[in-house]
Amino acid sequence: MHQPICENLNKIKHEIGRQETLAGRQAGSVTLLAVSKTKPASVIAEAHACGQQAFGENYAQELAEKSQELSQLPIQWHFIGPLQSNKTRLVAEHAHWVHSIERLKIARRLSEQRPEELPPLQVCIQVNVDEEASKAGVTLDEVRPLAQEISQLPRLQLRGLMCIPTNTGDQAHLHQSFGKLRQALEELTADGFEVDTLSMGMSHDFPVAIAEGATMVRVGTAIFGARG
Ligand SMILES: *Cc1c(COP(=O)(O)O)cnc(C)c1O
Repeated sequence: MHQPICENLNKIKHEIGRQETLAGRQAGSVTLLAVSKTKPASVIAEAHACGQQAFGENYAQELAEKSQELSQLPIQWHFIGPLQSNKTRLVAEHAHWVHSIERLKIARRLSEQRPEELPPLQVCIQVNVDEEASKAGVTLDEVRPLAQEISQLPRLQLRGLMCIPTNTGDQAHLHQSFGKLRQALEELTADGFEVDTLSMGMSHDFPVAIAEGATMVRVGTAIFGARG
C-alpha cells in the first residue's frame, strides 16, 4: 500500500508539538528521528524532500549502502540497532550517531575506527530499563561506569541515554520506565557529565516519552507503514 509519507510526517510533527506544549517544554525541544530500516533509499529520499533530516537504521550494512546511495543529500544518519564487533567499521565510517552502545569493547572499536576527517561520533548508552532478558542494554547500575570509560575515548562524544521499554499499552508502566531513563540522565549530569540526549519513544509510545523528557523520538511504522 502506498504510504502518504509527508502527511504522516506532518501529523507526527504536530503531535510532537502538542506533547511539548502539554509537558510545558519548549517548542522544538524534541527531534524526530525517522526509522527507515528495511525501507528503500527512494523512500528515504521522499521523506527528506518533505523536510525530514535525521534517519535511523538498525543494520550496519544497510546503513552503509543507503548513506552511500544518498550521499548527495544532507542526511544525518543514526545507528540504533545491535552492533557486533565485525560491523563497527561500517558504522564508524557512515553514521553520525550511535544510540545502542552497551559494551566498552564496541565503543573502543568505534573510537579507533572513526575516520580522522569526520567529527567525533555522537553516542548514547542503551539502557535495559525494564531488565528484560530479551533486550539489549546495560542495567541502570552499569550506566555510570560505562559513561566514565566512554568519556575517555577520543573519537566518541557521549551525548546521553537510549531505551526501549517493554512493549505495553499500560501508560503508567511506560511513564515509570521512561522516567527511569530520565533520572539516570539527571544523575549523569549531577556527576559532571555533559549529556543532553534522551533517545526514547517509538510509534506507539512517543507521546508518553515526550511527557517524560525525551529529546529524540525514534519513529518508523507511523511514518513509513508496517515493515514487510
Ligand atoms: C524499529 C525501531 C524503532 C521504530 O519502531 P516503530 O515501532 O516502527 O516506530 C525505534 N527504535 C529502535 C531501536 C528500533 O529498532
